Amino acid sequence: MSHSPYSALDLPRVINASGKMTALGGTAQSAAVAEAQRLAAQHHVDLDALRAVAGKQIAGRTGAEAATVTTGAAAGIAIGVAAMITGADRAKVEQLPDTNGLADEIILQAGHDVSFGARITQMIRLGGGRPVLVGSRESVTPGDLSRAISDRTAGLLFVQSHHTRQRNGLTLDQLVNVGRDSGLPVLVDAAAEADLTTYIAQGADLVTYSGGKAIGGPTCGFIAGRTALIEACELQNLGIARAMKVGKEQIIGLLSALDRYPSEPTWPDRVHRLETALQGLPDAVIGRAADLAGRDIERVALRSAPERLRTLAESLRSGDPVIYTRNHQLEEGLMLFDLREVKDEDVDRLADRVRQLWMAEGS
Ligand SMILES: *Cc1c(COP(=O)(O)O)cnc(C)c1O
Repeated sequence: MSHSPYSALDLPRVINASGKMTALGGTAQSAAVAEAQRLAAQHHVDLDALRAVAGKQIAGRTGAEAATVTTGAAAGIAIGVAAMITGADRAKVEQLPDTNGLADEIILQAGHDVSFGARITQMIRLGGGRPVLVGSRESVTPGDLSRAISDRTAGLLFVQSHHTRQRNGLTLDQLVNVGRDSGLPVLVDAAAEADLTTYIAQGADLVTYSGGKAIGGPTCGFIAGRTALIEACELQNLGIARAMKVGKEQIIGLLSALDRYPSEPTWPDRVHRLETALQGLPDAVIGRAADLAGRDIERVALRSAPERLRTLAESLRSGDPVIYTRNHQLEEGLMLFDLREVKDEDVDRLADRVRQLWMAEGS
């Protein structure tokens, strides 16, 4: 394992047992993906030509007509919204984010306006859109949606995420059907999703993904979708997307990660090792938990009294290395260990620290 450059800056080493968290730098990339970026950084290239080649490759992987790289899925929302507002009109691209005289309303379900660190609706506004929320978190009906559509509507947005809090909402299929009937494009935010083809296959006009989440690439992302809309997205590089410039290193890193994606997951072995190593902790039940959002991820579960788990989480966070666990459900008496981003050689260190702090706490 290579040496972390962060220690030279007096930043503590991190063991990330919380998942693929942006706040911890996204994914720790494979040696191959990191090497591809190193080489990319050391050579010049015609950036537009590189973007075009990357777009073709991403389109191939997603089953879309075309694609374009972005700094991430948040930029993907802003740029996708801008494209739905301006189309291929260069003057409109240069007018943004001022949308005077343009249809700029973007409709989404109330429970889809979530925060992933920033809010979905702010990303819409960043792209010049005016968010229009329909229904409530309890329910959205097809009638709610059709009543909101007018000649000011530029497009529809669907958020596919474990963050969404929409009950009895409309499915993507329903949104796509309404979009078709009313001639409006549908943009899907699939930032953290692992399936790169399903939303395009369902008829979404634009879909945006993070490069640094499920795919395991650098901090970046892409939008895939219909040719005319993707061209309109590209055109935003002469406008608002200039403030979201993607480097050659990120593009090459993304392609390298996509080449290797999906790879056989290595975490099940680490889950097994940690689960075994933690067995027998007093006043605790060690087991496994499936992903709440139904993704194909299993985590090690430590069940005990919430106050003991809170103390443990705090102690893990204040040591060296700093250990981050998955703490969304501490109040239910459940601490989770996500092993996807934990290095092989850190599993024993993690188990030892948990055991040591737990015994100290219990005595
Ligand atoms: C992470 C996330 C984003 C932002 O993606 P970035 O690639 O970090 O810009 C947007 N939407 C959802 C639902 C997310 O989970």
